[in-house]
Amino acid sequence: MIQTQLYIDGQWQSPIDNGTRAIVSPADESVIAQAAEATRADARLAIAAARKAFDGPWRQTTIRDRAKLLNNIAELIDRDAGKLAHLESLNTGKTLTESRTDMGDIAATFRYFAGLVASESGAVNEAPHHVISRTLREPVGVCGLITPWNYPLLQAAWKIAPALGAGNTVVIKPSNLTPLTTHHFTQLVAELDLPPGVFNLVTGGAEVGAELAESLDVDLVSFTGGAYAGESIMKAATGNFKRIGLELGGKNPNIVFADADLDAAVDYALNAAFFHAGQVCSAGSRLMVEDSIYDAFIGRLAERLPRIVIGNGFHGETQMGPVQSAQQHEKILGMVQAGIAEGARLVHGGKRPAGDVYKKGYWLEPTLLADVTAEMKIAKEEIFGPVITAERFRSEEEALRAANDTPYGLAAAVWTRDLDKANRMSRALRFGTVWVNDYHPYFPEAPWGGYKASGIGRELARIGLDEYTELKHSYINLAPKAMGWFGA
Ligand code: NAD
Repeated sequence: MIQTQLYIDGQWQSPIDNGTRAIVSPADESVIAQAAEATRADARLAIAAARKAFDGPWRQTTIRDRAKLLNNIAELIDRDAGKLAHLESLNTGKTLTESRTDMGDIAATFRYFAGLVASESGAVNEAPHHVISRTLREPVGVCGLITPWNYPLLQAAWKIAPALGAGNTVVIKPSNLTPLTTHHFTQLVAELDLPPGVFNLVTGGAEVGAELAESLDVDLVSFTGGAYAGESIMKAATGNFKRIGLELGGKNPNIVFADADLDAAVDYALNAAFFHAGQVCSAGSRLMVEDSIYDAFIGRLAERLPRIVIGNGFHGETQMGPVQSAQQHEKILGMVQAGIAEGARLVHGGKRPAGDVYKKGYWLEPTLLADVTAEMKIAKEEIFGPVITAERFRSEEEALRAANDTPYGLAAAVWTRDLDKANRMSRALRFGTVWVNDYHPYFPEAPWGGYKASGIGRELARIGLDEYTELKHSYINLAPKAMGWFGA
């Protein structure tokens, strides 16, 4: 049985009150680990350690030291990619293929930020000859990093790499449902020769996250998760006006025009919605199809859905695993029922699959609800499960209006062969990412984040590093002269 501990000030330790939490396999509900469950008191110790490390020698590290650190972490991730992928699938239920992809992306993220950090240098500004004016980027300080359960280590990497690369110290709090890969990652960091307190792991629930958001000793909090927690973090952060980054939920339209390559559009509509059983912030769960091809499109999806292989993520043939928790399972089934009650037509799924192997665990059939209208709750709220809701539209204007009529703005996709229309739609959709004739690609070089209620700030790309820095204007007068202005 895996047992995890907290990592504070360079020491592995149990929570002050010895709290633990059973970590459960989403595939069969067996207990797979006992994780340390911290309280606010543990979080305070970790924050104090990070504070001390930031105010100490860590400030003297060079960009070369820090770029090397990120590259070393990438090497260790490559070395342990198999173990990490196994733990990620065990804990989240996602297929091993998806977890392996995540680990490759995580190593790439550390390498990308290593390169970016190494290329950092301040700018010298135009100024009078007796003045040296420079614009400098400096670390923000102690960073509280709070991550969700759907992409535990990937989301952590998007925060840890730029935070450490920019010269900050960190306290990371993964979701208490899925702490295993972040714990293993911390073991990798512990192999490196970092000063105590630079990197701290505190596993626990909302109260630990709230402590990070409220603490006056934390200078920046970066959070990925739901809107409810995001709101409370934003309010808590006002105590010292700490920097905040919020990556929140989405309701992401996947818009198919009649002139699209339909084979590709059908295929990607399934990938958009069913990767990781739909538990993806950018999942294309809101399918919108042009009227003239709507019935045929639904028919083609209906043929494919029963053929999706649902199963344990460790089995090679599995295409879709379970959802992560009992709570999610119940919530998704409730949303499907609410949709049917509002008049949506259940084409496929909407229940636990039949068969003994699916009796335990949080299994759901891939689900398609057709004839959904933009006013329905299922078209507006994030479902976060393997459910496609399909709406019909009659014109480009109608599609655009309906797609933008959501409080969220994370990601959207458009399928068309008309380049002019593709460009118009890309410009007019109010989402942080707009794909055309594709779905889901992201990479470290491109920014990630949402408009509107999908968040504040961006991760990845140069801006993803800049978010972890303060900008300073350093002005040095080399030849000061008396001004003789006041009372001279
Ligand atoms: P969640 O909001 O329940 O929890 C996220 C993290 O915040 C967890 O570590 C949790 O313990 C902590 N937390 C909960 N309440 C808190 C509080 N009041 N103060 C401080 N911390 C608190 O989210 P979740 O259910 O783990 O994740 C699913 C959500 O995350 C979905 O809405 C999804 O769309 C979103 N998400 C967004 C992105 C993105 O890039 N925009 C990526 C992944 C997931």
